[in-house]
Amino acid sequence: MTTMTEAAPETRSFEADVTKLLHLMVHSVYSDKDVFLRELISNAADACEKLRYEAIARPELLGEDPQPRITVTLDPDQRQLTIEDNGIGMTEAEMAEALGTIARSGTKAFMEQFSATKDAEGSQLIGQFGVGFYSAFMVADRVDVTSRQAGADDAAIWSSDGLGTYTVGEVEVSQAPQRGTRVVLHLKEEAADYTQRFSVEHKIKTQSGHVPVPIFLREKPDGEPQQIADGAALWTRAKSDISEEDYTDFYRSNAGQFDAPALTLHYRAEGTHEYNVLAFIPETRPFDLFDPDRAGRMKLYVRRVFITAEARLLPRYLRFVRGLVDSQDLPLNVSREMIQESPVLASIQKGVTNRLLGELDKLAQSDGDAYLKIWENFGAVLKEGLYEDYARRETLLGLARFRTSTSGTDWRSLQDYVAGLKENQTAIYYAVGTDLDRLATSPQLEGFRARGIEVLLLTDQVDSFWVTSGLDFEGKAFKSVTQGLSDLSLIPLPGGEQPSAETSDAVSAFINFVKTTLGEAVSDVRASERLTESAVCLVAPDSGMDRQLERLLASAGQLGQASKPVLEINPRHDLVTRLSALGEDEEGLREDAAHLLFDEARVADGELPVDPRAFSARLGRILLRGIGSA
Ligand code: ADP
Ligand code: MG
Repeated sequence: MTTMTEAAPETRSFEADVTKLLHLMVHSVYSDKDVFLRELISNAADACEKLRYEAIARPELLGEDPQPRITVTLDPDQRQLTIEDNGIGMTEAEMAEALGTIARSGTKAFMEQFSATKDAEGSQLIGQFGVGFYSAFMVADRVDVTSRQAGADDAAIWSSDGLGTYTVGEVEVSQAPQRGTRVVLHLKEEAADYTQRFSVEHKIKTQSGHVPVPIFLREKPDGEPQQIADGAALWTRAKSDISEEDYTDFYRSNAGQFDAPALTLHYRAEGTHEYNVLAFIPETRPFDLFDPDRAGRMKLYVRRVFITAEARLLPRYLRFVRGLVDSQDLPLNVSREMIQESPVLASIQKGVTNRLLGELDKLAQSDGDAYLKIWENFGAVLKEGLYEDYARRETLLGLARFRTSTSGTDWRSLQDYVAGLKENQTAIYYAVGTDLDRLATSPQLEGFRARGIEVLLLTDQVDSFWVTSGLDFEGKAFKSVTQGLSDLSLIPLPGGEQPSAETSDAVSAFINFVKTTLGEAVSDVRASERLTESAVCLVAPDSGMDRQLERLLASAGQLGQASKPVLEINPRHDLVTRLSALGEDEEGLREDAAHLLFDEARVADGELPVDPRAFSARLGRILLRGIGSA
């Protein structure tokens, strides 16, 4: 007999994105469905950790049941699997919100990737995108969630077959856990294996053996719960007691990753502040690496109590690092908002950052190949530190690796570069672009190539920024090959020959003519030192911004008017000397040629001719002349 009047559970529709997502889950062909277990256990553990945190301020929430616990119950007869926790629990409204919508952004990206990837990879995305709960529908055709929030007098039930609607409503407290959440999966026929003790125990131990809450397993609804994972904090144990598998399991369940760590850093800092660090560098790029918020993923614990994943424990350019810091000194009751201001946190950030960069450097020395894999994944992020973290830029420059005009597919360090400097070379030359091959063959590099001078080829977005931030390496400034004068004349060509620096009067006159003809379109036209094969190229004015950076800013709408380029003309080029020799009566041809040379230089830079119609007309006239005189 019910003593209170219960409203019948209300039927509601899922948010449109959830319906689409569920459709993908229900029809997923992934063989690796075990991921749902990991996700539901991870939610249960999160709920226990949230309660542990709330109970610092309100110990009464724990009541007579202070030990956090997750219980998994199997029921082969009913083909059911139940995961129950005594954590924070949810109210009816929270359930509708948490289990009917998707809180995190990136759902669209998730669905695109999820439906595009094959087999195991697809299920690996689930945890990363924060849509873990819905993975229950990969194995269940009905899911019932009953929950009672810590300290609440009432309880609620949520239920769905995953096909577009769910019901949510109040339930008698006797039907709900004393505190926390019970998730009952009515398994599909083909998922009956998830009621078999051996199989489930093995899966939980390998996937979730290191969640920070003990896990119990009951073979039958009336069976005795047996502990299968102790919930001990792995990071507080001695390194010598932890195997590589333990670390990998922990990394996966803690970071929601499915790969293995490329680097594991586990240590205890003792000194002004005491804390444990367990940090991992992933083997693959997490999907959100270039999200605009650039949020880090290191978790903060205080004396084993999870506090927040939002504290900035590392600079943004280390946001790919996963793991946690467990502080001994921070007060437990520090509010999440105030944490960022704490000097303890600043000191931890400094210590962990230095240690991580130090480990990377060690790895670079001891195992170059392993280091390069990390660099290939995260170099573009690490380079953000070159202009964001002035104090560490020397360290970061030391860690940086580059593709260069002479290295082929090998990576070169700046030490390597400086060791190969040519006679009289005083700068580190670089070219910025989006495409490695096009950069390597761009005309602006010709004079450098002829002299065997190495040029860094920079193709990451971030390169345009750090390279112009006034850095130097071992006293050598960075200098763009597409900006200003190339000052190559001091550096000898192999074999000792030196192109005459003299430009003949006829060529000088032609250059002046081109300048007059192009008028406002260019800031200057001049004879080039850097060209050896091509007739023309564009460079940025001496005091201007690098052309690539300018383009980037312009495309981001952060620049009103791009500055005008300098057109450089190769005075030794056949075409140029012959054009220079044309008589006054060839005014029309000379004018067409001036414009076409400018357009040619633009095309080589990946741009369009200034005026496509005029370009076609000029090209047509010149072709006709070619045919006529043949
Ligand atoms: P995520 O865990 O990344 O937030 P999920 O899809 O796994 O995404 O879960 C969605 C939300 O549902 C959680 O953030 C949480 O608010 C709620 N939730 C799920 N399971 C539980 C549980 N056992 N106890 C309390 N809240 C839960
Ligand atoms: Mg989750």
